[in-house]
Amino acid sequence: QHPVARAGAGDVVAAVNAGRTQDTPGAYTGLAAYLRQGGYRVLKECVSGARSVEAVIQAMEDSGLRGLGGAGFPAGRKWRIVRDEPGPRLMAVNIDEGEPGTFKDRTYLERDPHRFLEGMLIAAWAAGIEAIYIYLRDEYHGCRELLAAELDRLMADPPMSGMPAIHLRRGAGAYICGEESAMIESIEGKRGMPRLRPPYVAQVGLFGRPTLEHNFETLYWVPEILRKGGDWFASHGRHGRKGLRSFSVSGRVNKPGVHLAPAGITIQELIDEYCDGMLPGHRFYAYLPGGASGGILPAAMNDIPLDFDTLQPYGCFIGSAAVIVLSDHDSASAAARNMMKFFKDESCGQCTPCRVGTAKALDLIQAPQWDIELLADLSAVMRDASICGLGQAAPNPVDCVIKYFPHEFNEPGAATS
Ligand code: SF4
Repeated sequence: QHPVARAGAGDVVAAVNAGRTQDTPGAYTGLAAYLRQGGYRVLKECVSGARSVEAVIQAMEDSGLRGLGGAGFPAGRKWRIVRDEPGPRLMAVNIDEGEPGTFKDRTYLERDPHRFLEGMLIAAWAAGIEAIYIYLRDEYHGCRELLAAELDRLMADPPMSGMPAIHLRRGAGAYICGEESAMIESIEGKRGMPRLRPPYVAQVGLFGRPTLEHNFETLYWVPEILRKGGDWFASHGRHGRKGLRSFSVSGRVNKPGVHLAPAGITIQELIDEYCDGMLPGHRFYAYLPGGASGGILPAAMNDIPLDFDTLQPYGCFIGSAAVIVLSDHDSASAAARNMMKFFKDESCGQCTPCRVGTAKALDLIQAPQWDIELLADLSAVMRDASICGLGQAAPNPVDCVIKYFPHEFNEPGAATS
């Protein structure tokens, strides 16, 4: 289990500015400590020719590492696709981390930023990238200060010649800017609205150039995978799944937080083995396997392996592995209303099925009796006709309540609670 330090962002930033960093596991690892641990050695092996691009990409493919922002696209394949595009190529790193319940990127960034930076530079080297844009969530003030300080330290003695230019950009608090093409619009200085695809970002991305887009955590794993080999990452996993997942667990458990666990672990195993069980006086009732967008499942369905592709048959997905645990003190329909309000507020408004559909769905589920037929029609239109994942996934929580928690809105007065 990954050690999670207790210090908050403010403490960490103060420690960085004072030059106080340590080698203690779980403590903040600044540049000096990272170098003492052998940091940037893999990158140096890459640029010196000791590792070939092909061998590095092959190791990434062997590891099975997929995009951990939620889309789950195989990382090695993405490097290959972008590398095969004509230069100049750019890179966009997504640290917008806006999915409700997700806080893994921040947790790792606040503790071990150079592990991510080394992974980012290795990916840039492998894909032949000329400039990197890091898009950081505006609410992460401490992380921005920390990352700027560590980037300054790194640039004072660069670990490679011909470093790509690195730009640190602030988001502005919009959930939709975590969607890759909306993020790219935002970096370009435009209003953050998703693009229609094709063309895909890998071909026509930032400033019209082929762009390698990655979530923070995907890059965070790169140095360790290359040090230990692709098979090491793939050797983890349960119930037939492979790899590791950083679950951001919140809700009615004794030990919430970021828990590094095998891909494919079930919710019951996660609660029992990693979260020290449910809070006293709370009985496990339901769970959200993938933040606000990934649906809601009842406690009775506690044996589904949590991973990419395993939850789709149930109308859910794991996304960025933000697991929210509800108890008998909560209600799934109230959670669904909360989430639909969030989607309505965060819809960028570009397309009608999402802009009007989220508002309409919220009205319908605030009524004392749910109109199931109308909600089903609305969900189908939103799924089929919305431009991006926000509108397509917004009906998930409501559809799950209809499917798995009918007692909540069939009981008189239940839906108004
Ligand atoms: Fe914007 Fe929603 Fe359409 Fe996505 S689905 S482009 S968020 S209006």
